[in-house]
Amino acid sequence: MSDTRWEAVIGIEIHAQLLTATKMFCGCRLSFGDDPNTHTCPICLAHPGALPVTNAEAVRLAIIAGHALGCEIPERSVFHRKNYFYPDLPKAYQISQFDEPICGPGRFRYLSDDGEHWVGITRAHLEEDAAKLTHTGGDGRRAGAERSSVDFNRGGTPLLEIVTEPDLRSGAEASAFLKQLRQTLVQLGITDGNMEQGSMRADANISVRPVGQAEFGTKTELKNMNSFTFLERGIGAEIARQIEILEDGGSVVQETLHFDPVTGDIHSLRSKEEAHDYRYFPEPDLVPVVPDRAWVDEIKAGLPELPVDRRDRWRSDLGLTFEDAEVLSESPELAAYFEAVASEASPKSAANWVRGELRAQLREVDQEPWESNVTPSALAAIIGMVEGREVSMPNAKAVLAEVVEHGGDPAEIVETKGLGAISDDSELVALVDRLLAEHADQAQQLRDGKDKLIGFFVGQAMKATQGRADPGRVGELVRERVHSA
Ligand SMILES: [Zn+2]
Repeated sequence: MSDTRWEAVIGIEIHAQLLTATKMFCGCRLSFGDDPNTHTCPICLAHPGALPVTNAEAVRLAIIAGHALGCEIPERSVFHRKNYFYPDLPKAYQISQFDEPICGPGRFRYLSDDGEHWVGITRAHLEEDAAKLTHTGGDGRRAGAERSSVDFNRGGTPLLEIVTEPDLRSGAEASAFLKQLRQTLVQLGITDGNMEQGSMRADANISVRPVGQAEFGTKTELKNMNSFTFLERGIGAEIARQIEILEDGGSVVQETLHFDPVTGDIHSLRSKEEAHDYRYFPEPDLVPVVPDRAWVDEIKAGLPELPVDRRDRWRSDLGLTFEDAEVLSESPELAAYFEAVASEASPKSAANWVRGELRAQLREVDQEPWESNVTPSALAAIIGMVEGREVSMPNAKAVLAEVVEHGGDPAEIVETKGLGAISDDSELVALVDRLLAEHADQAQQLRDGKDKLIGFFVGQAMKATQGRADPGRVGELVRERVHSA
């Protein structure tokens, strides 16, 4: 909001499905898209007497995430029962964590185009996902549906819930934060981060207060936003709604809301429960998690470079812009590819080529750089030839196209196809003089001040040399020679 009298206060809760082979408390395989109710057992179907066992891999992934979020990893954490009834929850309670989560307070650093930001992490805890409900008939929502089906394959999937401090101030900030958090979790192999399929979901707690006021206003919770755009728009819409209420002298009601991305409307889902409504109590069937400290430290020592640190390094050591660094660190594969090119060519040119021409050409053949015929060394060689003026830009693109299709050594391609730049200036001077004579009308108009005709002569020169002339040098020569001719 551009409103200068109001300040929004936003905290985010993120649910990320963990990339384990099996469920949180039983041995059922995690598998998406299989026939409904084919991955179930007495534990995840809540048969009487079935006992849960904690998934050690889920604990390990949560500790990795905790380190990446800058969190403390407490000596001990405990599972609690969160009691409520819903058809997707056969036990009528969810095994979650309450006052002793696996990851304690921390701070997550992220970058945006206006610099470095920190978001406080309140906690991150392990829990199990509910089953999947599908409503058929009506408009696909629960109300008015003819039938609701439940698929217990998803029931019991390990989730990491990450809760932030209310440190964010706008939808744009929340979206920038979530993008980089997602990238970090995906690159560390903690979650696949697929927001459309719901393997990562975000809720936002939003309140508004007069600028300068320390106390928070009443907050609402905006549920289940499944894209960065929806998150940003949803938060923006809710901030505007709250400001309007407050300016009309009303008061905001604490409730859970849904943002409809199609209409841009915000609907009330239900009034908000308090923690005590869930009657949390320690899960008697599970022992506390007490991770070995040496193991916790070993996990920390084994963390790869985080995306935020890589971006920092690229910006300070390689001189990349924020945007270059953001795009090129999208995936670990792309980041590694770019670094390999930049180790043999100028980093700024490497960034331009990888983001620009290489990506454009590979899009045509539906390939990623690291799986294409274009090795980092080949791309670096092409960049080097352009910078050394050994090959013109149009011909460099043609060489790249050849490498994309057949692979090979760029220098050899230039040699065998005769694509090398004309390095002899006298050859270019003769060519320019000839063109000025052949196109006397255009030459006269250029003398009379019609500067755009320089482009015409450059085009003619490129045509005459099959792209081997340096267009910049030809332009200079046309300016020089047109007046002396
Ligand atoms: Zn099971």
